[in-house]
Amino acid sequence: MTTTLQQQTDRHPSIETKAIHAGTPATRYAGAVSMPVFQSSIYEFAGETDYHSIPYIRLNNTPNHVALGEKLAAMENAEAALITGSGMAAIATSLLTVLSHGDHVLVQRRIYGGTHTFVTHALPQYGIAYDFIDGTDASGWAAKLRPNTKAIYVETISNPHVEVSDLRGVVEFARAHNLVSMVDNTVATPVNFRPAEHGFDLSLHSCTKYLNGHTDIVAGAVIGSAPLVKRVTHHLNHLGGCLDPHACHLLDRGVKTLAVRMRFQNESSMAIAEFLERHPRVRRVNYPGLPSSPSHGRAREWLEGSSGLLSFDVHGGVAEADRIIQQVTIPIHAPSLGGVETLISRPVALSHSGLAPEELEAMGLSESLIRLSVGLEATRDLIDDLEQALEA
Ligand code: PLP
Repeated sequence: MTTTLQQQTDRHPSIETKAIHAGTPATRYAGAVSMPVFQSSIYEFAGETDYHSIPYIRLNNTPNHVALGEKLAAMENAEAALITGSGMAAIATSLLTVLSHGDHVLVQRRIYGGTHTFVTHALPQYGIAYDFIDGTDASGWAAKLRPNTKAIYVETISNPHVEVSDLRGVVEFARAHNLVSMVDNTVATPVNFRPAEHGFDLSLHSCTKYLNGHTDIVAGAVIGSAPLVKRVTHHLNHLGGCLDPHACHLLDRGVKTLAVRMRFQNESSMAIAEFLERHPRVRRVNYPGLPSSPSHGRAREWLEGSSGLLSFDVHGGVAEADRIIQQVTIPIHAPSLGGVETLISRPVALSHSGLAPEELEAMGLSESLIRLSVGLEATRDLIDDLEQALEA
């Protein structure tokens, strides 16, 4: 399908404009201003000469996949993007494409629980070895290198410690040692960080979170150089983790408002983090926007905003954390992040509940840590609600 992507991005390079117009087909179907949903699993044969270009939902190449992929690639100023059935489909398929039996990968230790479990449980089944690294401190990485190391994997802003990785260090280290650099950009989003601009080979997303933003679908994306994304696509085409066209449509609709949502969530989270840091019942707040954060310098250097996720510890341990989670009235006690609704949880009980106690300890993830995904409710209302909960 020909698109106006090139014209759009040349004339209007802002992410706000791309979020709405990039990927739009040159011809509007029946004049429809909103891209129609092509709810068709198969398409009439049009002389395609290779398997992967035959339009079919599992092959991730129907009109809604193509339009959305072009939009996400444009938003990160990358060459290509693949839409996947979930964030884990994007992450697992990318790792299994880049790594083969006998290879080794360096992985940030403090990462999303599902990725951590995939690395520790699934990769060894494929004969792939790993070592965990501190994503914020490049000084220890060289000691973990092996002759068979093929990739390095970090999160831009880690979940749930919200640490900003040494992003430049990862790219430089990968180039120096001929590794594929991979970053999960879910928490930062393309509004706050665009990995391709900094030299990353692959950017991975759970689009379930901010990109969709409305807590109604599960989806993912792999964004990067065209040849690498093509390799991941061919792998996924056989693993089968495709996104249905209707979910593509919902994701496209969500992405259109990403920039405005993120700017609000960046600001609102900063105000909430500052409030929590001042509160006597709060022991520690993790948020890269705070000058007290060890990640603050990296956030200022590389990020355009610190996003909408923060975590904090209160005096009184798990019992007090659970009491606060029960006491708040606006945040919903639920897993996930990045939606319009503010969500609150203890990661040990939800997103990281698949990890063994010794893994949680090695990661430095305390049982009492509270994670807050700041939504789009009024900042004042959220602060008032947290205040009454802390002081109840
Ligand atoms: N990456 C991060 C940072 C996440 O927080 C999550 C889910 O919470 C995932 C990936 C996995 O995404 P999904 O649930 O869409 O498979």
